[in-house]
Amino acid sequence: MEPYLSIVIPIYNEEENIPVLWERLSKVMAEAFPDPAKPWEIVFTDDGSRDRSLAMLVEIAKAEPRVKVVEFNRNYGQHSAIFGAFAEVRGRIVVTLDADLQNPPEEIPKLVAKVEEGYDVVGGWRQGRQQNDSFFRTMPSKIVNAVTRKTTGVKLHDYGCMLRAYSREVVDAMLLCKERSSFIPALANSFAKRITEVPVAHAERAAGESKYGLWKLINLQFDLLTSFSLLPLQMLSVVGVLIAFLGFALFVGLMAYRFLHPEGTVGGVFSLFALLFFFVGAQFIAFGLLGEYIGRIYQEVRDRPRYMVKKVHQSK
Ligand code: UDP
Ligand code: MG
Repeated sequence: MEPYLSIVIPIYNEEENIPVLWERLSKVMAEAFPDPAKPWEIVFTDDGSRDRSLAMLVEIAKAEPRVKVVEFNRNYGQHSAIFGAFAEVRGRIVVTLDADLQNPPEEIPKLVAKVEEGYDVVGGWRQGRQQNDSFFRTMPSKIVNAVTRKTTGVKLHDYGCMLRAYSREVVDAMLLCKERSSFIPALANSFAKRITEVPVAHAERAAGESKYGLWKLINLQFDLLTSFSLLPLQMLSVVGVLIAFLGFALFVGLMAYRFLHPEGTVGGVFSLFALLFFFVGAQFIAFGLLGEYIGRIYQEVRDRPRYMVKKVHQSK
C-alpha cells in the first residue's frame, strides 16, 4: 500500500544523534499515526557520512520495513540529500526534518494537520531560537530570511527552519527542477498556492557540531540570491548609473570651481584617490556578482547530476 505520510531526514555524521532521534521519532509515528489506512514511511539520506551513521541507519532499516535509507557515494550537502530522499518518497504528505533534534519530532503531527487542512507548504517557525547557536550561525540566518522575503515576495518569518511539510504536488514540482543549486524552502514556495507557518519548538543541537561553517553558509546565501532573483544583476545597472551620475556631477562641480577661482588649487591627489577607490570597489562588486551568475550558469550547463545514489537500503 502506498504510504500516506513520508518523513525525510538528511544525515551527515550524526552517529551520536541517531539512537535518540530514532527512539523519539518512532514513538511519535506509532502514537500519532496508528491508522493502518494511513501508512507512513521514513526515508533517511546518508549524505556521505564518515562515521557509523550509515551502518546504524541500515540496522534500523533491517528491523523496520517502513524505513528506507538512500546512500550517497559522497557528501553533496543538506539540500541535495533532501532531494535524494524526495526522489524516493511516495507519501501524499512529505515532512522534512533535521537529524540533530533541533527540530523536535513531536511537532510533526501539527504540520501534517495543516497540510490536511489544505495547505501546500507548511513551514516551521522556530520559537526561542537557541542563542548558543553561535553569532556566526544566527546572523547569516537573519540575512537569509530577509533576502528570501525580498526575493520570493512571500512573507514568512523563518525560511531556515527545515522542519517543514509539503503536499505531494509541491514535491513533484520540485523534483522537476533540475538546477543544481537550490534552497528547498524557497523553491517549494514558488510552487505552492497556500502557504502557512506554525510555531515549533527549537532545541539545541543534541550532539555533535553544526555541519555549516561560515563558507557553506555564504554559498547557501548565494544559491538563494542567484537562483530566485535577478535583482542583484538589475541593481548593478542602477548602481552603475548612480555612480556615473555622481562622477559627472563632480566633474561639473570641479569645472565650475576652476572658473570661479582660477587662482585656487583644487583639493588634489587625495580626493582623486578616494574617488578612484570608490569606483574600483564598485567595479569589483559588480564583477564579483556577474562572476557568481556566470559560474552558476557554467555549472548548470555542465548538467552534472546533483547527487549519485550508491544504494537504496530497505528490508523485505
Ligand atoms: N546535513 C547533510 N549534509 C551536509 C550538512 C548537513 O545531510 O552536508 C544534515 C545534517 O546531518 C542535519 C541537517 O542536515 O540533519 C542540518 O544540519 P546542521 O544541524 O549541521 O545545520 P544547522 O542546524 O546548523 O543549520
Ligand atoms: Mg542543526
